[in-house]
Amino acid sequence: MRSSATPAVAPLTSASRPASPTPERAPAPPAPPVFAADIGGTWVRMRTGGPEEAVERVPSPSRLRHPERSVPRLRADLVGLLCDRVPAGARAALSFGAAIDHLTGTVYGSAPLWGEETAPYDVAAELRHRRPDVTWHLVNDVTAALLDFAAVHARPGVRRVAYLTVSSGIALRTADLEQRRIPVDDLGLQGEVGHLPVTLTAPGSDVLAGLPCECGARDHLASVASGPGLARTAERLGLARPAQVADWLPGALAAGEPGARRLLELCAAPVAELLRTMWCLDPHLDLIGIGGGVAEGLAGPYAAEIRRLLATPTSYADRGRDDTWLDERLVFCAPGQVDPLRGAQRVADWRPGITR
Ligand SMILES: [Zn+2]
Repeated sequence: MRSSATPAVAPLTSASRPASPTPERAPAPPAPPVFAADIGGTWVRMRTGGPEEAVERVPSPSRLRHPERSVPRLRADLVGLLCDRVPAGARAALSFGAAIDHLTGTVYGSAPLWGEETAPYDVAAELRHRRPDVTWHLVNDVTAALLDFAAVHARPGVRRVAYLTVSSGIALRTADLEQRRIPVDDLGLQGEVGHLPVTLTAPGSDVLAGLPCECGARDHLASVASGPGLARTAERLGLARPAQVADWLPGALAAGEPGARRLLELCAAPVAELLRTMWCLDPHLDLIGIGGGVAEGLAGPYAAEIRRLLATPTSYADRGRDDTWLDERLVFCAPGQVDPLRGAQRVADWRPGITR
């Protein structure tokens, strides 16, 4: 005898079956959970789920915070933290504040995370070994920032887009939007411009000759134009003690102090030279974002100085760029506008992705 209970959904009969021969399918498996982390020397920011979910911020297991801990211990602590938080079977996207081989996930070095340790560390292999259930994607934080910047700012028709960070270090990434890829070299690197020889063209910039860089060399772009470079330049000019420059400079610029103005001119000029060179070499570079602590902290005066320099003709091949041209191609980012955590989660949207 049939149960009198009416089924919630009547079974399809041949009479009520749709005419189209759609095969009946098993329901699609649920999408894997998504996890992202932005790993810097000071904080590790983590999020499970989409952009609407809360971000958890924990102090980094880094050399910066724990100078007494060994590098193997710091690395183990970081891997342990990530493996503890990532959900089972997740797709995980990590943004690393370090020079990283984008082809393998090997980290070449990070002074804030691991001090002067230069032996490469295959953190991706370690994560995959510890949590084989998770799909791990690793990118450098500048690459992640570029992906976020491009997603928000690149209008239709933009062929190539770059993001330059002027912060405690200086680095650049360029993406080809037509091919939807970020090209890298045999080491999986691209755009480590902070450690190229600096071009000193500003009048009187010979006073900056010989300034050291964090990498141990001298006369690099970061020797002069990074946050620490700004402090070194200020010291050369006899302006302020290095530790006070970041606090002093914005107010001094607002007050129109000549020494502050001179410092800004000397530190912005090599960055403007880099931008000129980029546009000379790649006329299809349609959009460049500039962010990072120095650019964002000095904000309006920094942007105005870079634009002033780019407006100045230097040769028949570099005739100067007017406001309309620059407005279309150069974006100075505000603090928080570009988010490496969000950018890391966009990596999976990039296929063929990051390629040699
Ligand atoms: Zn260097």
